[in-house]
Amino acid sequence: MSKFWSPLVSSLVPYVPGEQPKIANLVKLNTNENPFGPSPKVIEAIQAELNDNLRLYPDPEGESLRKTLADYHSVRPEQVFLGNGSDEVLAHIFHALFQHGEPVLFPDVTYSFYPVYCGLYNIEGKTVPLTDSFEINPEDYRQPNGGIIFPNPNAPTGRCLELEHIESILRANPDRVVVVDEAYIDFGGETSISLVDKYPNLLVCQTLSKARSLAGLRVGFAIGHPDLIEALNRVKDSFNSYPLDRLAQAGAKAAYEDEAWFQKSCKGVISERERVTESLKGLNFEVLPSKANFVFARHREKSGESLAKALREQGIIVRHFNKPRISDFLRITIGTPDQNDALIAGLESL
Ligand code: PMP
Repeated sequence: MSKFWSPLVSSLVPYVPGEQPKIANLVKLNTNENPFGPSPKVIEAIQAELNDNLRLYPDPEGESLRKTLADYHSVRPEQVFLGNGSDEVLAHIFHALFQHGEPVLFPDVTYSFYPVYCGLYNIEGKTVPLTDSFEINPEDYRQPNGGIIFPNPNAPTGRCLELEHIESILRANPDRVVVVDEAYIDFGGETSISLVDKYPNLLVCQTLSKARSLAGLRVGFAIGHPDLIEALNRVKDSFNSYPLDRLAQAGAKAAYEDEAWFQKSCKGVISERERVTESLKGLNFEVLPSKANFVFARHREKSGESLAKALREQGIIVRHFNKPRISDFLRITIGTPDQNDALIAGLESL
């Protein structure tokens, strides 16, 4: 606390990102990065962009990348909004679309950045409990609200909601924006982007950090009705006109031009996820059905905290949340086959 801080800053409870330890040879399964790496075409495109043009500002509208994303998802470029990682897109969403004097609804077990944005923008948040099996019940989203947001698949549970249930939430809330945060959608879920022309209150958010293996490049986007996109652009252009640098725009575009790499990477993660799930079940874990690049699992006897600590001593890092309902769970990112073998061997030894 300092006398120079504004009252808002004193009240903030910032998000705590997963650790990025600077220790060699760690089995790092704590931040849902993709172990298979970006397409070589992305690296080439970024290298080609490393030239004297860096003295010039990048395209503030990211027109070329927006067109690529629009074509890929069969929408129009004016339905696409770009941001510096989907975290930035989400921040602008809270700022631009959720301030309606009523609480924004999100699940009690979900991405922990949502309450942080509420704090930053002075929005009331209201948590809606997941069911006992950690699922979203669409019926629970029929109550007065200033907007709704949830990840699909949900994080950290990994559980996916069917499109028909998303539609029922959209139909029950025609006057409020419903945001589906699809950070993990490519690992087996079905995207809601096909619904944006039917529901003007739907905004779908995606990232290149997971399935495209570009967490270090910081690119995310939202797709929805042009009116929603315009609101986001008004906030963006009141904050930072150039959120995506030249390298990010070029690399992101190239990622969508290598479909074969993307498909192979997703398939690799999915088949390893199924293998890890079976192994964990064999080790007396309950594993929630996951459609993400991580699994959420609890041991039937040992505490989550003790397991996370013991794995850490073996150089294996997973995520543990000391929070109500989920303190016995571990969120384990799916790694390379070797990393997953190390995880299983580590748990067997415990
Ligand atoms: N949404 C969810 C549900 C996430 O888990 C993450 C990753 N922490 C993000 C959004 C943000 O991802 P990024 O900013 O890398 O696009």
